[in-house]
Amino acid sequence: MSEHQQIKCSFCNRNKQDTEVLIAGANAHICNACIEQAYQIVQQDAKSSVSSQKESSPFKLLKPIDIKSHLDDYVVGQDQAKKIISVAVYNHYKRISQINIDEDEIEIEKSNIIMVGKTGTGKTLLARSIAKLLNVPFCIADATVLTEAGYVGEDVESILSRLLQAADYDIEKAKMGIVFIDEIDKIARKKDNPSITRDVSGEGVQQAMLKLLEGTIVNVPPQGGRKHPDQKMIALDTSNILFISGGAFDGVEKHIASRLNTRSIGFKSNQDNRLNKENLLQHVAPQDLKSFGLIPELIGRMPIVTHLDPLNKNALKLILTQPKNALVKQYIKLFEIDGVKLSFDKKAIDLIVEKALEYELGARGLRSICESVMLDAMYELPSQKTKKELIITASYVKTKLNKLILNKLKVA
Ligand code: ADP
Repeated sequence: MSEHQQIKCSFCNRNKQDTEVLIAGANAHICNACIEQAYQIVQQDAKSSVSSQKESSPFKLLKPIDIKSHLDDYVVGQDQAKKIISVAVYNHYKRISQINIDEDEIEIEKSNIIMVGKTGTGKTLLARSIAKLLNVPFCIADATVLTEAGYVGEDVESILSRLLQAADYDIEKAKMGIVFIDEIDKIARKKDNPSITRDVSGEGVQQAMLKLLEGTIVNVPPQGGRKHPDQKMIALDTSNILFISGGAFDGVEKHIASRLNTRSIGFKSNQDNRLNKENLLQHVAPQDLKSFGLIPELIGRMPIVTHLDPLNKNALKLILTQPKNALVKQYIKLFEIDGVKLSFDKKAIDLIVEKALEYELGARGLRSICESVMLDAMYELPSQKTKKELIITASYVKTKLNKLILNKLKVA
């Protein structure tokens, strides 16, 4: 018997001449076919352990302080709102993770949230940042397009269609998602609504939303829009979906003021000085939203009310420069890719902020102003080989904005 015939794969027993490669170990040999097979087993095992890990922990349960510090990276100011939301979100997800474990019948209630604050102060950004952090599906729904079932407009269930889409139609994931309902104030009961006509886009929608917020199984049209009889519906349990709603509630200050002034005798003389218009919103309470036109049942299902401060000059300056994905940082990065060192003069930042305030555009306006300022440079610089540095000064900003305003006048 030759030496070759005696060496065999210790796994499949093949002789050495029947294999392409036979690797020797301490006391054994393995052939190429067995290596391949073993590799496939290892790969499959790794995949299934990752997916089972995903299933068992679809979201990260972070402590409120950690949630807030994550929000600090993206949202400037709004400390009170961040704190309240961090606690509410933590309790909400703690509640979900406890649901199947506890048998002591203490039911932790859902913590849906209402945020009151002027447009462009960061309400959507807060909700979006939370969803990103927790790695759960997130969608934004506009309350103004909703109407009571059977009327022109979208049924309230269409809100959940968007969530399903965001979750790639994975129902288990969607069940733990976050829905941001924007412009909730626009569905307030209209006081001057004559009683003979139905308030189908106001109180009617509020009524229709109740069951959604509370947590029941809702039949959702997968493609959104209106329900029609032949459509196949997806049943979605909303018990563990967190609803965060936001609205400007223009004029709610007068309800806050009258509540605060009538609450106690002598209050006016003591505290009137402190109650200027600027800080009235920080006292917002559920009863003010009721006076504004939200029905008590709806407020009851969104028990956490918080406010967002208006953005002043300093806040806008910070928004432009500080957050992780601040606009200024984004432009610097964009230019860096083309090998150009971009920087912004302090006075240029001041001027951009002043213009945003002047046009009453708030934080949302910062982007459009910056785009106008940077457009020419973004157009020309990539083709210029010699220019390696660009400093945006106040006069540069002025020139670009003047040009823009002139162009607009010409169009008009
Ligand atoms: P709202 O929902 O209150 O109307 P958004 O959250 O949509 O306002 O804000 C609009 C944009 O303005 C955001 O994309 C963000 O870039 C910027 N922004 C607003 N407020 C803040 C803030 N407090 N911190 C950082 N950026 C903000």
